[in-house]
Amino acid sequence: MSRSVLVTGGNRGIGLAIAQAFAAQGDKVAITHRGSGAPDGLFGVRCDITSGEDVEAAFTAVEEAHGPVEVLVANAGITDDTLLLRMSEDQFTRVLDTNLTGAYRVAKRASSKMLRKKFGRIIFISSVVGLTGSAGQVNYAASKSGLVGMARSISRELGSRNITANVVAPGFVETDMTAQLPEARQKEILAQVPLARYAQPAEVAGAVTWLASDAAAYVTGAVIPVDGGLGMGH
Ligand code: NDP
Repeated sequence: MSRSVLVTGGNRGIGLAIAQAFAAQGDKVAITHRGSGAPDGLFGVRCDITSGEDVEAAFTAVEEAHGPVEVLVANAGITDDTLLLRMSEDQFTRVLDTNLTGAYRVAKRASSKMLRKKFGRIIFISSVVGLTGSAGQVNYAASKSGLVGMARSISRELGSRNITANVVAPGFVETDMTAQLPEARQKEILAQVPLARYAQPAEVAGAVTWLASDAAAYVTGAVIPVDGGLGMGH
């Protein structure tokens, strides 16, 4: 069955791999971008998830093109790393506003239509550091662990209406975000990964399409690690 899927930040990186995986299995896929346009074959809507008006307009456009969103992947996210004592309040709130409040904005907008349909799959892209913590990422880790509480609360609120909410927690994935890390830090991280390599974006996409599939219909409130073993035990 072809479903209406929306992936925030699906114009590049992990989001693009997720969007392509859904498109490959025949779903109607929309992605958000902030001006870059949509990659070939995907339906793109301009949307900055820090703006409630943008989110409203994007959902309206997707609904007109593909029908109400049945599978929402809240993937868009940013980092702004520095140690706590140097972290300005603006650096903290900007990351929270994108990664956590942004996810709330899109989940809330999607869930009203999912309730009417009595079907919905909401998948939040968190991070291994949401559970382990990470020096220099107080803002980012707080936003990513917040997604776990959000997904589990949504699971409890909407589960009886056949809406699931789950979290995927990737480790280190080869994208623009990790390319920014200094080489010494990249080596340090790899030394702690049992699989001794970074993930490819498509490996994260595999967990996301599974969570949206009928095979995962009884899975909700779960945190699925895709981290090469980096976060084991958390
Ligand atoms: P990238 O930096 O490659 O891409 C980030 C995406 O988010 C882009 O599409 C970007 O859009 C979008 N975005 C950022 N801010 C906003 C905003 N305000 N409104 C709308 N879109 C926005 O990141 P990755 O692909 O690496 O990461 C994707 C997700 O996976 C993030 O949530 C990240 O935290 C998480 N993650 C990544 C890991 C990694 O190792 N790479 C590990 C664990 C989790 P634009 O192109 O317009 O900038």
